[in-house]
Amino acid sequence: MKHELPKLPYAYTALEPYIDAKTMELHYTKHHQTYVDKLNAALEKYPELQGRPIEELLMNIASLKVDEADRTAIRNHGGGHFNHSLFWKYLDPSNQKDKLLINEINLSFGSVDEFKKQFTDSAAKLFGSGWTWLTRNNTNSKLEIKNLPLQDAPIMTGLEPIFGLDVWEHAYYLKYQNRRPEYIENWWHVLKLI
Ligand code: MN
Repeated sequence: MKHELPKLPYAYTALEPYIDAKTMELHYTKHHQTYVDKLNAALEKYPELQGRPIEELLMNIASLKVDEADRTAIRNHGGGHFNHSLFWKYLDPSNQKDKLLINEINLSFGSVDEFKKQFTDSAAKLFGSGWTWLTRNNTNSKLEIKNLPLQDAPIMTGLEPIFGLDVWEHAYYLKYQNRRPEYIENWWHVLKLI
């Protein structure tokens, strides 16, 4: 079984003007597709791993019986596939606001505004390519903001991802060029947390 690009449940224009259609199209059809293709290529030698869900591969990344170069490829491209699949889902304009999550954010951070401030600050400070995540720690159920490098998925370190912001330049450069803070500010409009 090969991994596949999940269907995008909305049009490329759906997140305009905050995320432009051209960026959406390239991000989904080129970047995400490449992660899927390279993940499948990395699994080619390992038929026993091909039917396993991406979550399982990433949670067990350190112990997979694979060559080290393939482990790196599965981590990077598998992580890319997992992270982007979640990213598209969370930005779906037809999503309803999640009241339970908002309560949890209020309890953990004091207010949604304070949470947004901390998350924005974290994303602005992330050096190079990576993601800023809101995660739930599986051992104590606490909500935490985490910056993770490259395409490392939260599930690789026992964190449950709630949502993540892609701060690779490919996610915003066409529209925002070097203005990452503006991209982050505008992302709150499409996330529709409140
Ligand atoms: Mn991306």
